Amino acid sequence: MLAVAVDGPAGAGKSSLARAAAHSLGCLYIDTGALYRAVALYALRQSADPCSAAAVEPLLAGIALALRHNGGTQQVFLGDEDVSEEIRRPEVSAAASKVAAHPCVRTFLLGLQRRLASEQDVIMDGRDIGTVVLPDAQVKIFLTASPEERARRRMLELQEKGTSVSFEQVLAEIHNRDYQDTYRAAAPLRQADDAILLDTSALTFEEALAQLLHLIRQGGQP
Ligand code: C5P
Repeated sequence: MLAVAVDGPAGAGKSSLARAAAHSLGCLYIDTGALYRAVALYALRQSADPCSAAAVEPLLAGIALALRHNGGTQQVFLGDEDVSEEIRRPEVSAAASKVAAHPCVRTFLLGLQRRLASEQDVIMDGRDIGTVVLPDAQVKIFLTASPEERARRRMLELQEKGTSVSFEQVLAEIHNRDYQDTYRAAAPLRQADDAILLDTSALTFEEALAQLLHLIRQGGQP
């Protein structure tokens, strides 16, 4: 089995690059952030405070969470409901970083992520894939870009969807999520010792994809 771990901060382009690389290599792309987002959405719907582990933990047993793959597209289900769009809402993003800080949530999602990677060749993106979820992945990439560049890209993405936001607002949200993901005690965002750093700040999408594919084909050697 091939396992490629792609970690990095919010907005570094992990999902679009990892998806395109998986398509090129014929393996499955798994966006683990979507799992944390689905847990966050479930908690919000149950009016549970995402910051409170005591409020979130009892809900976990009742979450019927599933990923389905349709062509190259990953869909996220809560029971029979496709929540793939709804989990992208900004309030769900903010709540996702909060529920992701609870060890009970991380343990709940760990088995599912490992099972998916044991069944097929995968490129998995997240924050702790190379450090915790798949520590034996053959290839580990830490994908990043400057906060300003990440905010600029996120703003363009939102504008394309018709959402108008200011650059300052998006940058503040990026800084906030970076802080929460980096300074939490449980599985913080961190480059694995054996991961290769790929900084895409000055790269076009095509250049970054070419470098990512090159690294994967080299077996994670620079
Ligand atoms: O990648 P995405 O931005 O969709 O992830 C949403 C949130 O889920 C992140 O801000 C992070 O807090 C959490 N997450 C995580 N570990 C992962 C993937 C995502 O903690 N492997």
